Amino acid sequence: MFANIVVFIFGALVGSFLNVCIHRLPKNESVVWPRSHCPKCQKRIPGYDNIPFISFLLLSGRCRFCQEKISLRYPLVELITALLMVALFNRFGLNYEFFLYMVMLWGLIIATFVDIDLRIIPDEISVGGMIVGLIMVAVTGFSLAPFKFDFSPLLKSALGAITGGGIIYLTGVLFDLVYFKLLKRPAINGETESMGGGDVKLLAMIGAFMGWQMAILTFFLAPFLGIVIGVVNLMTKKDHTIPYGPFLSIAALVALFWADKIFTFIFHLR
Ligand SMILES: [Zn+2]
Repeated sequence: MFANIVVFIFGALVGSFLNVCIHRLPKNESVVWPRSHCPKCQKRIPGYDNIPFISFLLLSGRCRFCQEKISLRYPLVELITALLMVALFNRFGLNYEFFLYMVMLWGLIIATFVDIDLRIIPDEISVGGMIVGLIMVAVTGFSLAPFKFDFSPLLKSALGAITGGGIIYLTGVLFDLVYFKLLKRPAINGETESMGGGDVKLLAMIGAFMGWQMAILTFFLAPFLGIVIGVVNLMTKKDHTIPYGPFLSIAALVALFWADKIFTFIFHLR
C-alpha cells in the first residue's frame, strides 16, 4: 500500500512534466527552461500553484493572475500517468521490466495528447523513443562477470521496430493502392495518403520496446478501439479524420497488460 502511494505521487509529478512536453515539444521549445508560465498572461507559475491535481482544484481551474481557464488536460494527464504507473508497478513489481515499460508509457502519453491536439506525433517521441527502447532492451543482453554481450535482445528489439513500422506502412500503401488507384475514389481533404508517417514511427517505437509479437497484436487491437470512437465522432461531427496515435497507444497498453488472456481467448475460439 505504501509503495503504491509512493509510485502514485511519483507518477503525478512525472505527469506534470509530461504536460510540459505535450505543450512545448511540438513548438520545438525547451522542456526544461524557462519555468512554467501562464500561456495567456505569461506570468511565471509559482511552485505552490504547480502541485499535481491539488493546485488545479484550489484554483478552480483558473490562472491565479489573469483568471484564464487552465485546460482540464493538465490534471487529466497527471492522473492518467499516476494511475498507469501504479498499474505497471503492480503488474511487474520493482524490476527492470517496470522501468522499461514506464519509459514507453511516458512516450505513449505524450504522443497521444499531442496527436489529439495537433494531429502530429513528434519525432523526439517516436524516433527518439524507438532508440531509447532499442538501447534499454539491448542492455539486458549485457553482463559483466564474465564479460559478455548477448546480441539477441537487441535483435529482438530491432525486429520489433521493423515489424511495427512495416506492418502499418505496408497496410497504408496497400489501402491507398486499392482505394485511390483501383477504385479511383476522390482524395480525402486533398490527400491520397491515408496513413500518417507519425503512426508508422509510433508503432516502430512500440515494437522496439515490446517485440514483434506485441507489435502485431497492437496493430490488430487498435482498429477495434478506433471504430468505436470513429463512429461516435462521425455522429457528432462532420470531421471524419481521427488521430490514430491514441488508439495505437491504448492498444499497446491493452496488449502489455492482457496479451496472455487475449491469446488464450483467440486460440479457444477454434
Ligand atoms: Zn494567467
